[in-house]
Amino acid sequence: MAVFARAPGLPRVAWARGVEVVDTDGRRYLDASGGAVVVGVGHGVEEVVEAAAAQARRVAYVHGTAFGSDVLEEYAAELAPLLPLDDPAVYPVSGGSEAVETALKMARAYHLARGEDRWVVVGREHSYHGNSRGALDVSGRAALRAPYLPWLGPAVHTSTPQEYRCGFDTHPHGCGLRHAERLEQTIADAGPERVAAFVAEPVAGAGLAACVPPEDYWPAVVEVCRRHGVLVVADEVMTGFGRTGRWFASEHFGMRPDLLTAGKGAASGYWPLGLAVASGEVHETIGDGGLVHGFTYSHHAVGAATGLAVLRRLRDHGLVGAAEERGAQLAGLLRERLGDHPWVGDVRGAGLLVGVELVEDRGSRTPFPRSRRVTEQLLAAAKELGLLLYPAAGCADGSRGDAVLLGPPLVISAAEVEQVVERLVAALDVLAD
Ligand code: PMP
Repeated sequence: MAVFARAPGLPRVAWARGVEVVDTDGRRYLDASGGAVVVGVGHGVEEVVEAAAAQARRVAYVHGTAFGSDVLEEYAAELAPLLPLDDPAVYPVSGGSEAVETALKMARAYHLARGEDRWVVVGREHSYHGNSRGALDVSGRAALRAPYLPWLGPAVHTSTPQEYRCGFDTHPHGCGLRHAERLEQTIADAGPERVAAFVAEPVAGAGLAACVPPEDYWPAVVEVCRRHGVLVVADEVMTGFGRTGRWFASEHFGMRPDLLTAGKGAASGYWPLGLAVASGEVHETIGDGGLVHGFTYSHHAVGAATGLAVLRRLRDHGLVGAAEERGAQLAGLLRERLGDHPWVGDVRGAGLLVGVELVEDRGSRTPFPRSRRVTEQLLAAAKELGLLLYPAAGCADGSRGDAVLLGPPLVISAAEVEQVVERLVAALDVLAD
């Protein structure tokens, strides 16, 4: 039987350790992508593998409605103080899209429990929140939505801050407030009594290549939501678990969301784990029995054991601080080496989530035409040189733009950061030649 391949002509992976991936032909790659910004603790960490195997040996599967498990309670207890929510309650699932679906249902269930029939969700332009239908509905990336539009529901989309392409002339002062005004208008247009939640990444990942909003953005946006009884959902699937140099990126802005989603780094790729987290107030209002929801693999004990081992590894090896330090080195070196490159418009990010936006003309910030397929070509050239990158979107007003994300494992060394930059510069030279 054929495999429904995700891309043509792929090399086959053999093994991986730390920041290095090796294929079956013995070719070695530096994994500056962390897969899809997933692998935080590094590849091949025995202690994580052992924790997963030990739990699978004890018991691999029982249904979440039949049994709880000690390991899940232990995981929740160690995770709680790290989360930017008051008295959090966690709903473990199998990945980021499921986490977003779960958070959306929690938002609706919360309002229903309070006697309010709210269902509209506000997402943001250019955003990505997952490929399942609810998560795609909230996502603002037109190209991903286009084939499925008849299936998509009632989400509406508001503006999102992009420092490099700020649509407001006030930038950088006061532009966060302008976006908050825009959100308030979006809520007003949808009918405030119908709006259940606002969903956004604290730092925009794949959709905008690591765009950090201005400081005044989150406080103003949260204030608008609170005033209209709209729940704030922080999608930290990409930014969570140390990626941006904080346990969760909400911390950069002192933001306390009502709901939070995580995935990717939660189990670092060793298990498909996602988390939907509710504040104590949201949890108590819904009640444990109030959520009509669940997946076969919700509350999986092996997922909890893997997540717990990853969390301890991040904590005990100081990897969140390391992400901040190595991230500053990476962004600094990229700016130094690529600051004058004719194709590099912007280098941005937080911690080890770094975006490089590519443009045809730096002065006017004009993107390349889509037909040039610059991102795809850069990914291929880098792979030839033994460097794995993750594609992102630059997003020049309506057109997609070109950008790559660097999100290596948080264990990357200073010397490996230098090699990543060397190879990226070399790959750009190949293309620009
Ligand atoms: N939210 C965000 C912010 C993401 O980056 C992603 C994945 N790129 C998702 C949700 C969906 O996660 P998954 O692919 O695990 O379903």
